[in-house]
Amino acid sequence: MLVLVINSGSSSLKYQLRDVDADEVLVEGIVERIGFPAEDGEIEIPDHEAALDVVDAALQDALGGRQIDAVGHRVVHGGERFSQPVLINNEITRAIERLNPLAPLHNPANVVGIRAIEEKWPGMRQVAVFDTAYHRTIPERAWRYAVPDWLYTRHGIRRYGFHGTSHEYVARRAAALLELPLEAFNAVVLHLGNGASATAVQGGRSVDTSMGFTPLEGLVMGTRSGDLDPSILVYLGRQGMSPDEIDDLLNRESGLKGLGGSNDMRTLVGAVERGEAKAQRALDVAAYRLAKYIGAYHVAVGGAQAIVFTAGIGENSTVFRSLVADRLGALGVAVDPDANALRSPDPRVISTEGSAIAVLVVPTDEERAIAEATAAVVRTSAVR
Ligand code: ADP
Repeated sequence: MLVLVINSGSSSLKYQLRDVDADEVLVEGIVERIGFPAEDGEIEIPDHEAALDVVDAALQDALGGRQIDAVGHRVVHGGERFSQPVLINNEITRAIERLNPLAPLHNPANVVGIRAIEEKWPGMRQVAVFDTAYHRTIPERAWRYAVPDWLYTRHGIRRYGFHGTSHEYVARRAAALLELPLEAFNAVVLHLGNGASATAVQGGRSVDTSMGFTPLEGLVMGTRSGDLDPSILVYLGRQGMSPDEIDDLLNRESGLKGLGGSNDMRTLVGAVERGEAKAQRALDVAAYRLAKYIGAYHVAVGGAQAIVFTAGIGENSTVFRSLVADRLGALGVAVDPDANALRSPDPRVISTEGSAIAVLVVPTDEERAIAEATAAVVRTSAVR
């Protein structure tokens, strides 16, 4: 089965064509600057349909006359309705659109991508895979904010969680690596990329996660602040900052960038090696915050069997992993420095034999997870 995985942003379209049965990537790429005027030598791409023409041309060689069987979309917000990937029809597209206010940057772009495919390849089977879906098993005590009920009933203000496709995929692979049945697997999964979140996994399901109403809550991220006292926003508003300015400040100018001057972990580690205090401070704040979440989630899951690192920083940064692990002594966690320093594309254990909780590095692969989910939905809906 050939699945085209689409991650449609407002001005970009990422794609990957996969042969699901052979577990192979046939071709991948990104079309950028959609809706922007062309610069020297560039072709202008006025909209997502034009972007799909570019994608289509790029696919032809890899397809070699074969047909795409289905398209899988990464959809950011599935609200309270979607707890599973679904086959898309008009009603589903409208339901995703109704969630636009909850994810104003992402869901509209996802819908544009879905409609562009329908225009270009009418009748193509399309599946939506939601970033929030895995977190639909989080109990109310964990998803409620302690605010009056009307904020939830009228505005949908609650914790939703994100990065679900990655957390689910990584939890499954981690359980397999440790040869534990997923239904009995308790873990803390740490997705540390530009965006970062931790998930408490109990019996293979998400029972808590660090991102909330939006992806701003929780850990210190590349350019996002994560947790802070909400009164800071009120204070800044009273100082004359507009909602858009505050949004920009906390989403794009904060986190590692705000503290350390860069959102790139490699740059920060280099700066620490040159003795730059600001970079050291950024890593200390991020590692400390993360270690606190791990302690909290160890409690939330009733004792974790594993702590699992994934995504850009989690998979690659020996330095950051050891900064975090060094703070987990109270949990009896011990990381083996040699295993931690090893570079490998494979899932692996980096803790010592004696560590009370196994520490793992498990590479994530959201495209693969989306392609597999898409194939599964298409196969079951074909049987009906
Ligand atoms: P995104 O959320 O955009 O998908 P990624 O998962 O690619 O982000 O993670 C980006 C982060 O991973 C950046 O902070 C980057 O510095 C870090 N990173 C990538 N490769 C390495 C590496 N070899 N060593 C340390 N950090 C790395």
